[in-house]
Amino acid sequence: MKVLVANLGSTSLKWRLFEFSNRQERMLHKGGFERVTDYPKAIEDCLAQLRDAGHIASEKDLSAVGFKTVLALGVNGCVRLDEKTVRAMEACNSIAPAHNPPYISGVRLFAQRMPKTPLVGLFETAFYQWAPEAAMRYAVPQAWHAAGVRRWGFHGASHKFIAERSAELLRREDVAQRARRLYVDGGSSAVRQPDLRVISCHLGGSSSISGILNGVAIGNSLGMSPQSGLPHNNRVGDLDAFALPFLMRTAGLTLDEAERLLCKESGLKGLSGGANDIRDIQTQAAQGNTNAQLALDVFVHHIRHWIGAYFLQLNGADALVFTAGIGENRAELRETICANLDQLGLVLDREQNLATRAQEAVISAPNSRVQVMVIPANEELVVAREVKRFLENTQS
Ligand code: ADP
Repeated sequence: MKVLVANLGSTSLKWRLFEFSNRQERMLHKGGFERVTDYPKAIEDCLAQLRDAGHIASEKDLSAVGFKTVLALGVNGCVRLDEKTVRAMEACNSIAPAHNPPYISGVRLFAQRMPKTPLVGLFETAFYQWAPEAAMRYAVPQAWHAAGVRRWGFHGASHKFIAERSAELLRREDVAQRARRLYVDGGSSAVRQPDLRVISCHLGGSSSISGILNGVAIGNSLGMSPQSGLPHNNRVGDLDAFALPFLMRTAGLTLDEAERLLCKESGLKGLSGGANDIRDIQTQAAQGNTNAQLALDVFVHHIRHWIGAYFLQLNGADALVFTAGIGENRAELRETICANLDQLGLVLDREQNLATRAQEAVISAPNSRVQVMVIPANEELVVAREVKRFLENTQS
């Protein structure tokens, strides 16, 4: 069985092709295009690359195309992306303006190009279905809650991969198995004592932190929308809800303009005064740019704030994991995040940390009670595995 997982951005298309056979799974191909202006052509070129590499003769060889879909109210888990589901995603465009529109148009283009191939989405909210209700509620009127105003949590595929992989690395096959089967049996399987407590930091263009107890998420720093939680590259992160009416009344901002500023001109970009890539911000900070330094300081402050929250909720941590573009590649930032935590049992191995870039490694010192790890993100694999399971379930 071959499953193509497509990662859709407004101007990017990235993909990984997986093959499943006899309990074995293999990634056959990965590729992508940035600065895409003609999306149908990008899809065509992706298929051409798969053909040229000899992985498929035509799109008929794909059992399904899987997508890391973000949010649709009333829909969760791994589902067929039929028109009804796509409309439910569309109804959430204003909650996920940077994510849902490219997915909706991309999925429709894939549907046009390969109408017979199942298109299946694993929603990024799926991992939080078993989080305690108290962690997911906002203190709003019940009617608002019923309308969808609650924490959903995102980056589910990424944090689920960390739940599985960290348990494997910590030699807790019972927990790894529970995490792998989470969407089948809802984390109901028993695990050995003691509890396995993991704090997963996905730091990239979008960033979030999850607490994970025995393979099951207890919460995520992202709330109702993928603009919340930590500051993102250009999206705001957490903000007091009253800031918006205040600015609209006093500065005469329209709702559309306020939304645009919160989604495109805030986050690290807003703080630094322009740069939104952490590499550029670090370079500017090193040259003495105080706004750039402040952007880094705010980012680190919020990361530590959320790590602290889960450290308490989990009654400590066995592992603190860094993943995604910044988490995997920016050793100096990891060092700043982990500084001065020895009283909590967390001590970094400075040399090992500096030497670790985009590879799996333990970067804590031997005397650290909390194991600090870098685990490269593998969201596409999580999507592909769930798509495979979905196909097997619907075909049987
Ligand atoms: P996204 O959330 O859009 O998938 P990524 O996970 O690629 O983004 O993270 C983007 C961020 O990670 C940027 O701020 C970038 O500076 C940083 N980053 C990504 N790759 C690298 C790398 N190879 N070296 C250093 N920093 C990187």
